[in-house]
Amino acid sequence: MSSEKQLSLFDDWSNNNDSSESSSSESDFDFSLIPTDTKIPIPSRTYQTMKQIAVHCNQCHRCELGENRTNAVIGRGNPQAEIMIIGEAPGQNEDEQGLPFVGKSGQLLDKILESVGLSSDRHVYISNAIRCRPPENRTPSTKEIEACKPYLLEQIRLVDPKIILLTGATAVKALTGDKRGITKIRGQWLEWERRLCMPIFHPAYLLRNPSREPGKPKWLMWQDIQAVKQKLDEFEGKNNSIDF
Ligand code: SF4
Repeated sequence: MSSEKQLSLFDDWSNNNDSSESSSSESDFDFSLIPTDTKIPIPSRTYQTMKQIAVHCNQCHRCELGENRTNAVIGRGNPQAEIMIIGEAPGQNEDEQGLPFVGKSGQLLDKILESVGLSSDRHVYISNAIRCRPPENRTPSTKEIEACKPYLLEQIRLVDPKIILLTGATAVKALTGDKRGITKIRGQWLEWERRLCMPIFHPAYLLRNPSREPGKPKWLMWQDIQAVKQKLDEFEGKNNSIDF
């Protein structure tokens, strides 16, 4: 099927399902209509629910990572959260369970959030730059990131977070195009599409660098998560002092 034909059919589907969230619309959808040509963006406002995105991603072959996935990994947490956390890509555990940030990295991320009174179930929504696991857990390619970006953008639109945390350089580059190293930009507030973003270290990096000494990655993460909580409190009109 030509790219033009794919796109036009996809438009027809999205227009015909503007207000539908029913499972029948999901099961009736012809998945061959998802544009496999990565030059064709999936239009904004195509999806009304995370479930629709999940159904599509589990049928998606916009990049080669769709060939070997067990599960597409969409997200976990609260889809109405004020904070969205975006990682790099699913690993083996994530691929098997269909959830992002499970295993040791996920447990550490949960602890980091808990340290400032945030729950990973209630206060954040967690996703990744791409939804299928790269072989051998390699860094996703630019082509794969671009292929998957429409889904990420739709997730951000649906969550509508006040703050986006980008864990690691790949996540920063995937969303904002900023190619600077994570050690240079972590802890800085960046603006992307009129949203406040902060690059932070990936929890896996902290697992490899466990020292808590001042200036070391774990200590820096502690500074960053406190700044995030403070900013969230400002948004919510709370006292700026942080309660640990
Ligand atoms: S990584 Fe994204 S674009 Fe690639 S096959 Fe999976 S869902 Fe589709």
